[in-house]
Amino acid sequence: MKILIVLAHPEPQSFNAAMYYSAIKTLLENGHEVRTSDLYQMNFNPVSGRQNFTSAKNEAYFSQQSEELFAYGNNAFADDIVAEQDKVFWCDLMIWQFPLWWFSVPAILKGWVDKVFAMGSFYDNGRIYDNGMLKSKKALLSVTTGGPEKNYVTTKYGSTNQILHPIQTGILEFVGFSVLQSEIHFSIERITDEERKAVLEKWEKRLKNIFI
Ligand SMILES: Cc1cc2nc3c(=O)[nH]c(=O)nc-3n(C[C@H](O)[C@H](O)[C@H](O)COP(=O)(O)OP(=O)(O)OC[C@H]3O[C@@H](n4cnc5c(N)ncnc54)[C@H](O)[C@@H]3O)c2cc1C
Repeated sequence: MKILIVLAHPEPQSFNAAMYYSAIKTLLENGHEVRTSDLYQMNFNPVSGRQNFTSAKNEAYFSQQSEELFAYGNNAFADDIVAEQDKVFWCDLMIWQFPLWWFSVPAILKGWVDKVFAMGSFYDNGRIYDNGMLKSKKALLSVTTGGPEKNYVTTKYGSTNQILHPIQTGILEFVGFSVLQSEIHFSIERITDEERKAVLEKWEKRLKNIFI
């Protein structure tokens, strides 16, 4: 199968990077095709604006969604967006590897979505959820947290289901992805090295059987 892995972490030696590299290795070893978007290493610019496009429908007033519709019909997306859109269209499964930052994805990943998941190409009137344009694809969120699991059960934080709901339902399912059970690892800086190694092993084991 074809898998796109998106990493949103600035440190190549981080635990998130370790999860990302172990996913690449495991999936390749199991005969899958893998493409990647290591957003910080790519120096991906997450800021949306006129730079998303190579030409404009309306030079006088910028409306991102109407420019996206125009760009879709006129091949007018900037190269960095075309490259990322192609990877998403190509994949059967998309994995996002990220640390939970302010109860959400890091801004670089949100900016990637803002630019890449364009109207006309990824969704349109009536082409959402069950009728979404990316309907045959699966997505998986692989997340680490600083906070311990109990905080997401007993405190004001809310559950991880609640926290990930806007990402799962407002982004991925919105454009048609089926979202698999999230891979969530809590307190990743506070557990022992052995426990982190066990997390990596569990992740590799899951990925070996991800399409079964
Ligand atoms: C802006 C911001 C907002 C945040 N908001 C939240 C929030 O809303 N909720 C929340 O819970 N937390 C929050 N955090 C904390 C954040 O989620 C954690 O810092 C993050 O999940 C830790 O993951 P990491 O990859 O950065 O860990 P790292 O610090 O990179 O790694 C943890 C440890 O793993 C070690 N390691 C690396 N590779 C391996 C390996 N192969 N095997 C074993 N060990 C390894 C590292 O050396 C390190 O000791 C926030 C942090 C920031 C910066």
